[in-house]
Formats: sequence, C-alpha cells, structure tokens
Amino acid sequence: MDQKRKEDAADLQRRSLLKNTAVATIGLSALSAVSGPEAHAEEIIQAREIIPEVVQQSSRPTVRESVRITKLETIMVKPRWLFLKVHTNADVVGLGEPIVEGRALTSAAAIKEIEPYLIGKDPRAVVHHCQAIYRHAFYRGGPVLTSALSGVDQALWDIKGKLLGVPVYELLGGPTRQRIRVYAHARTPDQIRECKSRGFTAFKTDLARLNGRYARAVENKAWIENDVAQFAALREIVGKDGDIGIDFHGAVPPATAKILMKELEQFQPFFYEEIINSQNVDLMAELAKTTHIPIATGERHFTKWGFRQILEKGAATILQPDLCHAGGITEVRLIAGMAEAYYASIAPHNPLGPISLAAGLQIAASIPNFLCQEQVSLGDGYIKNPFKVRDGYVDLPTAPGLGIELDDNAMADKIGHDWRNAETYDPDDGSVTDW
Ligand SMILES: [Mg+2]
Repeated sequence: MDQKRKEDAADLQRRSLLKNTAVATIGLSALSAVSGPEAHAEEIIQAREIIPEVVQQSSRPTVRESVRITKLETIMVKPRWLFLKVHTNADVVGLGEPIVEGRALTSAAAIKEIEPYLIGKDPRAVVHHCQAIYRHAFYRGGPVLTSALSGVDQALWDIKGKLLGVPVYELLGGPTRQRIRVYAHARTPDQIRECKSRGFTAFKTDLARLNGRYARAVENKAWIENDVAQFAALREIVGKDGDIGIDFHGAVPPATAKILMKELEQFQPFFYEEIINSQNVDLMAELAKTTHIPIATGERHFTKWGFRQILEKGAATILQPDLCHAGGITEVRLIAGMAEAYYASIAPHNPLGPISLAAGLQIAASIPNFLCQEQVSLGDGYIKNPFKVRDGYVDLPTAPGLGIELDDNAMADKIGHDWRNAETYDPDDGSVTDW
C-alpha cells in the first residue's frame, strides 16, 4: 500500500505540475522534460487531454488556434533606420529591423515584395517562412534580400515569443548566460571616458578615420606612427582590465594593413575587425596568420554560406554576423553553431537600432560561444524601458519575444530620414576611397 500511495502521490504531483506550468505556452515538445525522460505514451495522451483545459484559462492563442499575418508596415526612423511591424489577427505585433544602411527605401520595397507571401500565413512557422522567402527568390541572398529577410525573421520570432509568453532565447534552449556584455564606439580619449562613466568596459575604435585621410595602398611612416600613437592613448584610458577592438572598416589596403597589424599588436587590441575588404577571404586568411590578435569579420557576409568560407579558410576567429543582414535570428543561430565547431566566437555586429540590439541579445542568451554585443543605442527615445549597462553588461531580457516595446510617443519626432552613405575621396588627388 505504501508503494501504491507513493505512486499515486507522484502521479498527482506530475498532473499538478503539468497544469500549473505553462504547458500551453511551451508546447508538447517540452512535456518529456516536465515528465522526465521516462515519459511514456499514456502520460503524453493524458497531457494532451490537459492542454485544452489550460488553454481556456489563457488569453494567448495556442498552437491549436488560428493566428494569421494581416499586414506588414515599414517605418523610416532617424538617424538611418527602418523598423518593421508585422501585424496579426491575434492583437500581437512583431518587430524587426530590415535595413541595409543607405538603402532604406530599397529595403522597404523588398519588404513590400515579401508581403503577399506572408499575408494570411501563420507567423509561428518561422523557419519554414524563412526557407520559402529565401529559396523561392531563386536569386538567393545579397545584402538587400537577406536584410529584408532578417527583419521579417526577427518579427516572426517576436510574435512567436509573445504568443507563447516567453523570451525568444527560451525557445532556443537558453538562457546560456545570466547577463550580456556589450561594447561601445569610442574614437577619442574623451569618448572613452564618457563611455566608461556610463558603465562600459569594452570599446571599439576606427583608426582608419583618425588620420585626416583614409589609408593608401602603401602608407608612409608618419601615417602609421600617428595611428599607433592615437591607439596607445586610447588603450591607456581603457586600462589593462578593459577591452578595445580596432575596426579597419575594410578600408585599409592589404600592404598597409599588414604593417598596421604588426605595429598595433603590442597594445593587445580586443580584435582587428575587417582588416581588409571582406570580398577576398583568402587574403584575409593569409593576413590572419601574421598576427596573434584575433581577426573579426562578418558584417558584410550573409547567411551560413557566407560564413562557411571564413571558417573553413581560417580568415577569422570572431564572427560578427549582423542580425539585420545575415538572415536574422534563425540564421545567426546556425552560424554560431558552425563557428563553435571551429572554436570561433560570436560578436554580433550592430550599428543600428534597438530592435537589432534586442535580437542580438536573444542570440547572446541562447548560444554558448558569445563574446560581446555591439551597440550604438540602448533604445533611449525609441523603446519603453531602454537597456541599461552595469559593469559592462546588460541584464538578461525577461519580457516575451524580443523583449522590447516601441515608445511611439518618444519616436514621434524621429519618423522619416534621408540618410545617405558618405562620399569619400583622397584629399590630394580626388580618387575614390573606401570609408
Ligand atoms: Mg565594422
């Protein structure tokens, strides 16, 4: 009898747990975790019977209820961003940031061309929709199409998380960490000090822009020495216990990059980013072998296929996929897995807005090989409850979906922009330079 009572009590406890946990929100796939690996068919059948009862207590639609996409809305937002709202018939709106910098109108047009496919579809089949949008295009990839896809992907994950009442990282097996390190842009000693006062411990500078002109194919000694001196000054303020990376911005020709990498190594930068234009991965791999500093790259690579060659050729050990370019959360999660097999880490690129940041934080919280998240805005003036930095980190988001909510009132004066890419020329002969 004692044994029977124990079994009955255990059964009751299991049933209670099933009812009191958010069974309807985490789906049948989680039932084996709730019931333990020994769960058998009968228990699953019982659980199926329990789900409708729980569903009726929840206002959130479930896998059994109809949810359809009704409209895609793009909004140009200062300084150079494009926000996407994916509307549904379930009173849930997904947010995304489908933007190629300098091509906001083109990106909006790409979204307009995706809209007919998504209207009337269930938004929760995120991977299926990404596959359809990417593969049915026939001409696959490229920055415009993968950026549009990225924004859609973010919005669909946002909807899915909101419908299920959990952050996206919960759906991806996270959290994998308790807080998330972020870094700030800083090009001058004063900017470093200001960022430190705001709580940052990691930074990135862009030395290619500090010399009065951009690097030439073969640079003179004065140009190199000036760059090195400027970085030395920044490094001293950052301190030995802080980190500062250097973005070559793909704007330094290989011969000059090679000298600069050698001269700057003594200061142990966090990383060298885009040491040359990323179109020649073989050459980047060759240069990577000449230094002990980690090479970072990725903002101008798209999808798992774009990152495959970087890893295979050893061109970088820090991958910087952009959540708004590389294919969104779905694709960056896969890229992170590929990187893990090469002992490479992920530092999501992000010179964009708070939706991009929010998507990056969801990735950071769901992968093991995260390094640091780039940001240029913590969302002040754009979202309710902007992110806050403490000791170099932001807290793990806890709200459903991407974890943010746009502040339409605060954004009212930021609607619309006509931002264009910089035109840069050599001051001595007027020839076109990279920027
Ligand atoms: Mg960069």
